[in-house]
Amino acid sequence: MASPETATDQTTEALQVLQRVFGYDSFRGTQQEIIDHVVSGGDALVLMPTGGGKSLCYQIPALVRSGVGVVVSPLIALMQDQVDALAALGVRAGFLNSTQSPQQRRETETAFLDGELDLLYLAPERLRLDSTLDLLARGEVGVFAIDEAHCVAQWGHDFRPDYLALSVLHERWPDVPRIALTATATPATRREIATRLQLTEARHFVADFDRPNIQYRIVPKNDPRKQLLQLLQTEHAGDSGIVYRLSRAEVERTAEFLTSHGITALPYHAGLDKEVRAEHQSRFLREDGLVMVATIAFGMGIDKPDVRFVAHLDLPKSIEGYYQETGRAGRDGLPSTAWMAYGLQDVVQQRKLIDHSEGDEAHRRTQSRHLDSMLALCETVRCRRAQLLDHFGQQAAGECGNCDTCLNPPESWDGTVAAQKLLSTVVRLDRERHQKFGAKQVVDILRGKKTQKVEQFRHDELSVFGVGADLSDTEWRGVIRQLLAQGLLAVEGDYGTLVLTGTSSEVLRREEPRPVWLRTEPKPTPAATAKARDTKRAPQEMPPEVEPVFQKLRAWRREVAREEGKAPFIIFHDSTLRQIATVQPSTLDELATVSGVGEGKLNRYGRGVIEALTAPDQ
Ligand code: ADP
Ligand code: ZN
Repeated sequence: MASPETATDQTTEALQVLQRVFGYDSFRGTQQEIIDHVVSGGDALVLMPTGGGKSLCYQIPALVRSGVGVVVSPLIALMQDQVDALAALGVRAGFLNSTQSPQQRRETETAFLDGELDLLYLAPERLRLDSTLDLLARGEVGVFAIDEAHCVAQWGHDFRPDYLALSVLHERWPDVPRIALTATATPATRREIATRLQLTEARHFVADFDRPNIQYRIVPKNDPRKQLLQLLQTEHAGDSGIVYRLSRAEVERTAEFLTSHGITALPYHAGLDKEVRAEHQSRFLREDGLVMVATIAFGMGIDKPDVRFVAHLDLPKSIEGYYQETGRAGRDGLPSTAWMAYGLQDVVQQRKLIDHSEGDEAHRRTQSRHLDSMLALCETVRCRRAQLLDHFGQQAAGECGNCDTCLNPPESWDGTVAAQKLLSTVVRLDRERHQKFGAKQVVDILRGKKTQKVEQFRHDELSVFGVGADLSDTEWRGVIRQLLAQGLLAVEGDYGTLVLTGTSSEVLRREEPRPVWLRTEPKPTPAATAKARDTKRAPQEMPPEVEPVFQKLRAWRREVAREEGKAPFIIFHDSTLRQIATVQPSTLDELATVSGVGEGKLNRYGRGVIEALTAPDQ
């Protein structure tokens, strides 16, 4: 154990590194505690939301402790960018993975053995190799970091078998501290990580999971591509963002649709060639204002700070996935949108996927539970944020004021009678006709529509025909969706036929039926955003007169990025440029006070920034 004096010294040293190397004033949240603990040799399991600031938790110990920080990460495609970003800060980093030539690998190995590296990134499959373990044994390792640690959880949504081999680290290097990090934080996953990585003795650090700058919105889906286009045109013109779709075909179609409307959009899914994927990813990181339309194959480890929106056009499979995906918005702390369009068809489709999924009954039950929590989030009349935080075992401080239900509280209505009409239609079809039908036919019957299919099956002779003429098609679909979400109705089979559940009869009882409360279908209100932008929790945007200066700095950054072949945000984040534009420093000393300007960047880019600021307007 470190004595009290050395602990204080280490704390001071960590803070100095934060300020000198990274150019930040102070630690955020639990960063300091975590870093102190690891620097003094303790093991740690860190749960922090995406964008919470995990990297510093192992990068600073790697710089403060003697020896090299070895970082295990599954994100091979991003290692080059991570290493570049560190190099821009003056940190000596390298990586070993399968994309390198033997020559490049040898150079990195030599640098490691000669003590010329601060950080070494490794893919888990490389770490398993005896040759890699021998290499590590011949050099000096100061700390092991296991990034994306949830990949070790077999029931999680990102399992990677190579992660199981990581327990070897503790056996071979019992004295080297290990820090495992993840943004997926349900209590069950956390226990599994701790056991499998032999981190049961480690200190657990669970950060605040809230991302106050993200505005959560979930809207009823009618024409998703058009709804998306409207969102982009009215609220996110020229912004970078990610659009998630379930299928590859929808990814392609949506990207084409946006492109045909003048928005730069690229597709990304596992069916594209590796080279195409790499190119699209690299363009997304490097260009301003590009929209990536992707399946969930895209995004893990993408730490582009200025993603302004994440849009889901199909229902995610779990809240864990949803939170991780939406968490990719607004890492720079500026206002960002998490928007989802969701409808009845999503529920039908997800149920079908679960029914057809591989794996045993237990696995299907887990997936069903995930879906149920997701549906409950979609249909809630509570604050969305409060419900999300609840899911991760965190109590919200009250209503957030920055989600759709807070900004535009949905009304609820007593839907008991509507539910009874609907459920009895399903009962009639089943009992009297031994038939099962999907939502469309049921709604047509309720509304009394003499469609061809209604006449063909003589459904106009049912006693329930036309009893629901008081509600519109959309409203009936809303009722069905919500009954599904509440478990009072179910869908089955390839055609999404409606069937009763064990609890449906409680609603159909003659005596004291179970009351059913439904949320009214919200009307889209574009004003919601405008209001949200000045809520107290959202960070301040810069004064409008500063905008041209910011644009000037961005142009300068674009130029430098092009010359150096790097992503613009590696040079400076938007948030840093905004601050520079506001402060308008005229000396290097003044510039050094801006958050995000450390020693390395000051030396490298300081003059350029000052010159760009004083250059005459074009
Ligand atoms: P995570 O890996 O948890 O998703 P990152 O480590 O990428 O998050 O950090 C998110 C952003 O916050 C980065 O842009 C990082 O530079 C910034 N950041 C982290 N810690 C601090 C701090 N103490 N002060 C200011 N900015 C910080
Ligand atoms: Zn809210």
